[in-house]
Amino acid sequence: MRKAINIKIFSILIFALIFSMYQETSAQRKKPNTKTQQTEVKPVPPEIGFTVSMSKPFTHLLEVEMRVKWTQMPEKTELKMPVWTPGSYLIREYARHVQNFSVTDANGTALTWQKISKNTWQVDTKGAKEIVAKYNVYANELTVRTNELNDEHAFFTPAALLMFVKDQLKTASTVKVNPYGNWKVATGLPSVDGQTNTFRAENFDVLYDSPFEVSDFKEISFTVQGKPHRYVVTGDGNYNLEKIAKDTAKIIEESYKIFGDLPYENYLFILNTRGGGGLEHLNSTALQWNKYGFAGGGHTRFLGLVAHEYFHLWNVKRIRPDALGPFDYENENYTKLLWVAEGATSFYEGVLLQRAGLITANDALGTRASAFQGLQNIPGRFETSLEEASFDAWIKYYRQDENSVNNQVSYYDKGEIVNFLLDAKIRMDSNGAKSLDDVMRYLYAEFSKKGKNYTPADYQKVSEMMAGKSLEDFFAKYVRGREELDYNSILNGFGLKLETGSGSQTAYLGATTADVNGKLTVRAVAAGTAAYEQGLNTGDEIVAVDGLRANQAFLQSIIAEKRPNDKIKLTIFRFDELREIEITLGGRIPPNYKIVRMDNLTEDQKRLYNQYFGIQ
Ligand SMILES: [Zn+2]
Repeated sequence: MRKAINIKIFSILIFALIFSMYQETSAQRKKPNTKTQQTEVKPVPPEIGFTVSMSKPFTHLLEVEMRVKWTQMPEKTELKMPVWTPGSYLIREYARHVQNFSVTDANGTALTWQKISKNTWQVDTKGAKEIVAKYNVYANELTVRTNELNDEHAFFTPAALLMFVKDQLKTASTVKVNPYGNWKVATGLPSVDGQTNTFRAENFDVLYDSPFEVSDFKEISFTVQGKPHRYVVTGDGNYNLEKIAKDTAKIIEESYKIFGDLPYENYLFILNTRGGGGLEHLNSTALQWNKYGFAGGGHTRFLGLVAHEYFHLWNVKRIRPDALGPFDYENENYTKLLWVAEGATSFYEGVLLQRAGLITANDALGTRASAFQGLQNIPGRFETSLEEASFDAWIKYYRQDENSVNNQVSYYDKGEIVNFLLDAKIRMDSNGAKSLDDVMRYLYAEFSKKGKNYTPADYQKVSEMMAGKSLEDFFAKYVRGREELDYNSILNGFGLKLETGSGSQTAYLGATTADVNGKLTVRAVAAGTAAYEQGLNTGDEIVAVDGLRANQAFLQSIIAEKRPNDKIKLTIFRFDELREIEITLGGRIPPNYKIVRMDNLTEDQKRLYNQYFGIQ
């Protein structure tokens, strides 16, 4: 029986073993199911509402209340400030202006919190399904990417003011503004029906894309292609608002001709007549211009800024380079395409003004010639390609120093030139059938409208599609490479040629100097020049030239008297030490770039030129 018993026990053991194996395999099989069932619990987004108040403008403190109502509120909820704002590619650490942070549940009971990173406030919610965070943001810097509150107005950049809940950037939110006194509120966000000064953003990319101006602003509205447009202007100045509106409408019409639609319900121009610069948004722009800078040519220069920021609503906001949207607000967003996002926009800035009849063909060519001259003055063009300059914007473009002239190139300036050359090349290669307009239109239709971002390879491919030829050589040399641009090879196709200056060589030092607090100081030294090769340094204080007391005018007049290879004796303070440097001057033909028409034009050259400038 023992045997039998043994057999019985054995079979029980076998059964148990098989059963446990079955259980394991079925458990393994079941596991993913259980997991799926768990993730199938539909994530419910939080309801997020901000209130922005400004009860004491003179303190420069914007008061923010952030209410988060959430059935799935984590025990530890993280509230985060962006570290940058799109369009301005520098980590700006907006969290540094946050103060007086506190948080409660819906009943006003204080909750504990702690900072867990430079821009993250972690709240112990203790099971609360609604939390109310309050904080102030010091706002005393007027730029298009920061905040300012004073007794004149409040301008705020939402990425620099409003926090987001970790992983909830796709969540909608509302912003209620409590203006100071009789101030009015303007923003590109749609307002919430029936609620005063309350606006809605469908997600945080839209929220962070919509600056606010709150003041007793002047305004003017106009309609283009059936869509309402509005300027709100804070600050007086020598502008003519009617004229600005009329000319802006022309720029909008020309942009409409390129793309065939105006992809917004309405568009807002926020103008402050202090500071400088502009920042693009989906259906608005923030512009800053010196209050007395509208007279004479100033009006047209201001329209250049308008055209630039307005054109961006397609190029960069909708026609998006690979990494630029949806955005990561806590880190650098790297792209090699800022030379298109900014460069092509700078190119179209002039194109739109010219097509709108706000500048002449000669003005346009004059501007191009000065741009060429500017680039040819920069030794950094041999150090950094357009793609490299784009990629390194975060550490270079916004952090210029005395060596920038030697180690970088601007993706705006060279980007504008290379897009101009690309446009011209497409026109030539396609025999006038296509242009960069077709590239923009294609990117808008086939990428933007289909929800896709484009890559560097796409930009080349679409350009080649329009040219009907390979542009590999062009992109390899001028976009990915650092080769000298051959302007005339392209200009000649239009019956134009570049003249860079004439006459004999004059003496050239190669240092940029200026009188700073009464001291003649070296500001930058260009690589390859006499000053660079013979040891003059940025920061050197020049006290005497050839034994005579120096100032800027005197130094320039002495150099003008000299000839190439003549010597000049500079007495300088380097740090605190007095020394003498003798420099053998270099030479150059003073640059005076002009684009002129060639003689004896062929029919092709005439046709391309006339097409380019819209001459019938
Ligand atoms: Zn721009």
